[in-house]
Amino acid sequence: MKKILEELKATDRIAISGHVRPDGDCIGSCMGLFLYLKKALPGAEVEVYLEKPADIFSCIKGIEHVKTDCSADICYDVCIAVDTVSSRMGDAEKYFNTAKKTINIDHHISNASGCGMVNYVNPQASSASELVYELLEEELIDEPIAKAIYIGMVHDTGVFQYSNTTPHTLEVAAKLISYGFDFSGLIDETFYEKTYVQNQILGRALLESIVFMDGKCIFSAIDKKTMDFYKVVPKDLDGIVSQLRTTRGVECAIFMYQTGQQEYKVSLRSNGRVDVAKVASYFGGGGHVRAAGCTMQGTYHDCINNLSLQIERQLEA
Ligand code: 5GP
Ligand code: MN
Repeated sequence: MKKILEELKATDRIAISGHVRPDGDCIGSCMGLFLYLKKALPGAEVEVYLEKPADIFSCIKGIEHVKTDCSADICYDVCIAVDTVSSRMGDAEKYFNTAKKTINIDHHISNASGCGMVNYVNPQASSASELVYELLEEELIDEPIAKAIYIGMVHDTGVFQYSNTTPHTLEVAAKLISYGFDFSGLIDETFYEKTYVQNQILGRALLESIVFMDGKCIFSAIDKKTMDFYKVVPKDLDGIVSQLRTTRGVECAIFMYQTGQQEYKVSLRSNGRVDVAKVASYFGGGGHVRAAGCTMQGTYHDCINNLSLQIERQLEA
């Protein structure tokens, strides 16, 4: 695989961006690449565009340089879409559409062919962060770069537990922790630790969850009113669907929260028998075989009915 610097020869202006509602892998991979390109290409202007990262990611060097405002019309020499297809970049998509050269670094199975002129797409990779690591010259990696990439890998593998973790993932992780950052502390701070209201709303979602299809599916929904009551934002709901998935006997977990009058953001998790990337893609979303998402219209009853039909088809097949 060609290293990323070979694709960036004689470029002055580079933009990096991830997907809307950025998660740990998205932020870690974008920031790792950002720190690396700032270091490797000191003469170039490098920007990273993301929706405001959650406070837990303030331990990543340079996070204060993230640009959340895409109103300026800038034509970049290169725009790099990381952990996403361009259609999920939100406001930064315009930089991708107008850039002279586009690069796509992604590991989503729903993005098989890539959306860039140059594509580094590998659904076998645990995370976009693991893929970014492959594209860097080892001698230029330093502690802050290693730490950002490591955080991304930790988040997308559930601390190296999910089935996307490969021997290679652990080899990369081993190299990264040799840079000496406090990997144990940052797993706690960015992955396990929750605020009091996050735990409260998790409790509420578990309490109100419903199992169906003979216990093979579990579902819970949080409406706008409840989110307002607890003063939580979507980022605070991360992890609820993973907790639902750990229910014994469950093949597929569904969590949704209300984003509009008749609109829900849906998260799906599977224990292996259901390909949730397929289910989410059917409704215009995407993701991985065991973790995927989409946005759906209607009441939550409509959403759950439509989703369960697709899940049931797979379980019966
Ligand atoms: P989560 O449920 O944590 O939001 O997302 C799980 C996985 O599915 C992530 O890899 C995420 O990038 C992907 N995903 C979630 N929602 C969407 C969506 O609306 N469209 C696409 N293409 N992927 C999604
Ligand atoms: Mn990812």
